[in-house]
Amino acid sequence: MLIATKPRSSGNYLYIRPTMIGTQAQLGVQEPKTAQMYIIITFMPVMDTPAGGMRLHTSPEDMVHAWVGGFGYAKLGANYGPSLKCIEAGASNFFVLWKRMDGRKELIVAPLDDKLIMDAVTRRSCLELARERLGDNIVITERKYSIDGVIEADSEGRILEAFAAGTAFFICAVSQIHHHGKDINTPMGPENELGEVTKKIKSRLFDVMYSKTQLEWGVVIPEKE
Ligand SMILES: *Cc1c(COP(=O)(O)O)cnc(C)c1O
Repeated sequence: MLIATKPRSSGNYLYIRPTMIGTQAQLGVQEPKTAQMYIIITFMPVMDTPAGGMRLHTSPEDMVHAWVGGFGYAKLGANYGPSLKCIEAGASNFFVLWKRMDGRKELIVAPLDDKLIMDAVTRRSCLELARERLGDNIVITERKYSIDGVIEADSEGRILEAFAAGTAFFICAVSQIHHHGKDINTPMGPENELGEVTKKIKSRLFDVMYSKTQLEWGVVIPEKE
């Protein structure tokens, strides 16, 4: 669910994230018998438009952020150590729009089935909006793909757009991916703006967040004057 707060000035928003920590004093490894759940609500400044787009670093070869059987699907503090070593889209989901071999446009994001990737609210919102709005012209796919596939598509000029999506910095165009010493430059829209598809998804989601569009999964909480 997306919770909009109908802020008076658009662009800013509140980040609302339920959190749970074990609170039992204990030595040794065991499940806690008591836990505290609380909700972090924090004001977020606009972070979705870094000049020239977002530049990503893939994990170095000796570092892994998520693995099958691990907790990649959960927002666990322990997951983020490796991602702090470099500046990456480590707390957001990564989407690529490319041209497939058969010439069709495809918006692709990694799947949830092996629990490597977070079933994140922004990811889900992007997929739902893309399917509803863009599904006639673009194939929208959740499936495994690799950085090698991205490199290959880049060398064949098939990458059209890339963006990162997460609550913290919303939807942010990606202009470059640095992978093991090489740079992949992903196209941005005209004047270093968002690409066409990224823009459509972002502006639709923006309208839901700021209650310009009502969807059944958006709940508007009026702010007291
Ligand atoms: C927070 C986070 C996301 C984005 O989740 P949202 O619910 O969209 O904010 C995606 N991936 C990881 C690893 C995260 O930590």
